[in-house]
Amino acid sequence: MLLLFGLCFVAKPGQFKLLKLAIMGYSKTLSAQILERNPSLIATIESMNEFVELEANLKMVMIDEEEYYIYEDDLLVDKEELMIYFWEQKHQTILSNLYKPPSSNELKNLINYNKIVRWKPGLVLTYSVLKNTFQSESDYKIVKEAMKQATEAWEDVCGVKFEHVEEQDERKIKSLKGVIFPVRGINSKGIFTALAFYPSQPKNRWKVLIDYSFSSSRYDQLSILTHVLGHVLGFRHEYGRDNVGNGMMVDAENHKMYNPKSVMNFKGRLGTQVLEISELDRRGAQSVYGPSLKKFDFIDAD
Ligand SMILES: [Zn+2]
Repeated sequence: MLLLFGLCFVAKPGQFKLLKLAIMGYSKTLSAQILERNPSLIATIESMNEFVELEANLKMVMIDEEEYYIYEDDLLVDKEELMIYFWEQKHQTILSNLYKPPSSNELKNLINYNKIVRWKPGLVLTYSVLKNTFQSESDYKIVKEAMKQATEAWEDVCGVKFEHVEEQDERKIKSLKGVIFPVRGINSKGIFTALAFYPSQPKNRWKVLIDYSFSSSRYDQLSILTHVLGHVLGFRHEYGRDNVGNGMMVDAENHKMYNPKSVMNFKGRLGTQVLEISELDRRGAQSVYGPSLKKFDFIDAD
């Protein structure tokens, strides 16, 4: 297991006091964990023509000397993750013998052994926007501002706290300190606009990647980053409920409420509509993270 020294907060009225806290990230993806428990699945999936075809048709991108597939438009996945996503969609399930959906959850979450994957309570999700990775000062400022608004959008609806550690913005990715995830510019040559990560992915995958085209994109920047941060909080694509036959995940009893207005449903909507956190998203996010911390006047015991 990898250790991450993140920050947690003890709040005083109108102010957050930061404390150091050790946070454990998974050392392996959920998919790797599932395949380890079920090694025969690997050969089964690899022998399926549909999988071979899917793998051959996906775009690939090199990030920090590692090659990944781009899946569902804005997710970076390795081969094991691709196998599990493929299997889930093909079987309209989320491998219910291994893990199953939680009750009363409006957003689609990552599940590990029957538990919802989320960040630890009290953890401040610190990030920096790596200035030198963007093409210009104005590109950097556009991303910085859109991140500010997108993080506030989530803080307004559920019990999460983000913090931009601006003094780290000039650093290189390898020398970042006190930052859980960097937001960095990258030239994907238009393969993607922005890519996110899940908290269930190993720590070296905790990066938000922004293509050079982002600042001039015809897409709404705030919509993109609000969506991307939904992944960072552990929410999956709403349209991931659809299977290959375009139905919903039949065995996901509590995931029947397909929400076309979800901020996590951007298929066919990006560029045509502004994505906002819908009422069902708010309820789903609160079922995982609780109500917005902005509602409370916290009392410190010190
Ligand atoms: Zn997405």
